[in-house]
Amino acid sequence: MQHRDGKTWYLEAQNYAADLTHDLERREFVVDFVTGFDRRMRRNIPLLKAVKAAPAPLRHAFDAYARPRQMREHWGQPVPIEECERIFDIATSITQLPCVCRHFAGTPERGYCLAVTVTPHDDLFAEAFRDYDSGPDTAAFQRLSRDQALAVLRRAKQEGLMHSVWTFKSPLIAAICNCSRASGCMAMKTTLDLGFQTMWKGEYLAIVDETACAGCGACVERCPFDALALDDRAVAVVDGDACFGCGICRSSCGADAISLESHPGEAVT
Ligand code: SF4
Ligand code: SF4
Repeated sequence: MQHRDGKTWYLEAQNYAADLTHDLERREFVVDFVTGFDRRMRRNIPLLKAVKAAPAPLRHAFDAYARPRQMREHWGQPVPIEECERIFDIATSITQLPCVCRHFAGTPERGYCLAVTVTPHDDLFAEAFRDYDSGPDTAAFQRLSRDQALAVLRRAKQEGLMHSVWTFKSPLIAAICNCSRASGCMAMKTTLDLGFQTMWKGEYLAIVDETACAGCGACVERCPFDALALDDRAVAVVDGDACFGCGICRSSCGADAISLESHPGEAVT
């Protein structure tokens, strides 16, 4: 697939299929992913820093080994709230879970991660989160209605958090998270700071209506990818190469001057 080719893989129902979530190897992967997250991050961050500083041939060799593995196991991309709603139409069981990144970073947690599956998996979550303060009591996991889940996303949007969707052994899609660099998102850190891609660009690009822009600069502050700037007319401009299409800039704009467009020019707002 090419970026922004309109193939929204996270809207394919087969990628949420129950037989994928019941696969024993995948369930082991999920448990290991959560229980081993802190240990892996303590190992991987210094490793990725060392790779980033290494000579080019070594960096390329590491990338050739690690990137396909990452794409097989766990990767994600920003997704606007309108398409999260469409995901909720497919994945009808929504469970609020602790955020592994915030757990590792020690940043405040308000239930920002949503497991999106077609059947409940309390047993799996209880095993995966057994070392967290809230586990292993499955009663601690909050099952959300579609409206409650949307309320979580709207609250996150107001907090300036980007929504992102994630695989757990591709092609299974099993989680939506609400992320920012300040809250300790490891995908942003590895992708943007350490040069190892775990998060790919979304399917959209921000577009600014110059005639509506009031030049307040709020979107420039909000963009987590440094893709917005004010030009010498004090009009917001988007760096198309830097924009990840998350759409979170829209929540900062009182002038309603920003929209998202897919490649063929089809707007989501
Ligand atoms: S410009 Fe908007 S849509 Fe693009 S990365 Fe920044 S916040 Fe996200
Ligand atoms: S937030 Fe809206 S009005 Fe303010 S600079 Fe950005 S696009 Fe312009």
